Amino acid sequence: MTAGDAVVVIGAGPAGAGTALRLAQLGCRVFLFEKRATPRGKVCGGCLHRRGLTLLEAWGVAGVCRRAGAVVLNGAELATPWGAVAWPRAHGVAVDRVRFDAALIDEAKRHGVLFRDRASVRVRAFDPGEQSWAYTVDGSETQTARVIVVADGVAGSSLAEVQGFTMRRRPRSRVGAAARLPGNAMDVPHGVVRMHYAAVDYVGVVRRADGDLDVAAAISPERLRSERRVARLVADVLAESGAGGRVQAAALEADWSLTPPFTVSRERVAAPGLFVVGDGAGYIEPFTGEGMTWALHAAGRAARIAAGSIKGELSAGAAALRWSRAVRSQRWKAQTRCRAMQAMLQRPTVMLAAVRAARCWPWLRLPAWSKSPDTAGAWA
Ligand SMILES: Cc1cc2nc3c(=O)[nH]c(=O)nc-3n(C[C@H](O)[C@H](O)[C@H](O)COP(=O)(O)OP(=O)(O)OC[C@H]3O[C@@H](n4cnc5c(N)ncnc54)[C@H](O)[C@@H]3O)c2cc1C
Repeated sequence: MTAGDAVVVIGAGPAGAGTALRLAQLGCRVFLFEKRATPRGKVCGGCLHRRGLTLLEAWGVAGVCRRAGAVVLNGAELATPWGAVAWPRAHGVAVDRVRFDAALIDEAKRHGVLFRDRASVRVRAFDPGEQSWAYTVDGSETQTARVIVVADGVAGSSLAEVQGFTMRRRPRSRVGAAARLPGNAMDVPHGVVRMHYAAVDYVGVVRRADGDLDVAAAISPERLRSERRVARLVADVLAESGAGGRVQAAALEADWSLTPPFTVSRERVAAPGLFVVGDGAGYIEPFTGEGMTWALHAAGRAARIAAGSIKGELSAGAAALRWSRAVRSQRWKAQTRCRAMQAMLQRPTVMLAAVRAARCWPWLRLPAWSKSPDTAGAWA
């Protein structure tokens, strides 16, 4: 593949595949590169917010959710060492991340995107004379592109050689972990997201369309230092928040995938001809289950700006400025709630007060399972 005037997109998660798809729909030639073999997994709870669904519908690709075994979410529960509360509503669906990401890539290909997996891309340098970026794929001969979209996630290093784009990891950031557990490990009904919280860490559980359980956890560095086996740490959070012995035993036997510390920020997110989107532009906390929705939202906006730039409707400088502002405003608007949630999660006394207050609220109720013999006695 040679890029020429095509847009190069690095990373085929929701941000990269979504941007590639939208660029193709806007009439651009697009090369999408993914460093891993696909279909590939991603540590994620798989909950896609209604706003994400609306975007997929607007792009004409709502079918990706069906192909990803989407389960409609109609309730959420929070279990803590001090009791449990249930919300009668939840917004969105739970999808299988392997199938969701693969279906989005397929849609991008169907719209003309040229896709290559097992292809690790590194951006090398900007050539001011040619107004283009040099990049290599798996260390191959250098190629050039006028526009590159970087969607390489929290672990991405494709910009390591480009000055000013350093990824900063928050010192006390948690790490993510995910596994699939057998369906009989826990009595979570279809359509309910159950969050287990204990001493600043949490584990989310949702039942998949095939009946198994998708489990995703956020574990603090303090716990990781004291007890390095993630399965044990997840089992501890489940035990401390009142989950039964079956799911703890299943967690200990499961095969866990991990992320690096995931609370990251990027020094800059744009330069002329270069746009960083999705988690690679910054990520806070998965508790509210919005990362995929933010990634899709960013994909739609970045594609419009990048397409404007490649078609000459926007100067490269103006496009970069517009994208930097868009990211800043998204962070401010959408992520404020997430930051507030992060601050609460890191203060167990605040969580205790919030749970006690919530349990007095008639709109919320005690989940039926919290009174089952399996968990009886766990809470006062
Ligand atoms: C524990 C946990 C639970 C979560 N639960 C939810 C949830 O329930 N709902 C939700 O919406 N979000 C959730 N998230 C967040 C969500 O998973 C991310 O926000 C989302 O995947 C971001 O998409 P992305 O495309 O930016 O990055 P990613 O999905 O990480 O994709 C980046 C891709 O880039 C590729 N790549 C990296 N470097 C290169 C390179 N040099 N060349 C080519 N390819 C490269 C990677 O292999 C990867 O495939 C959770 C996150 C964690 C940690």
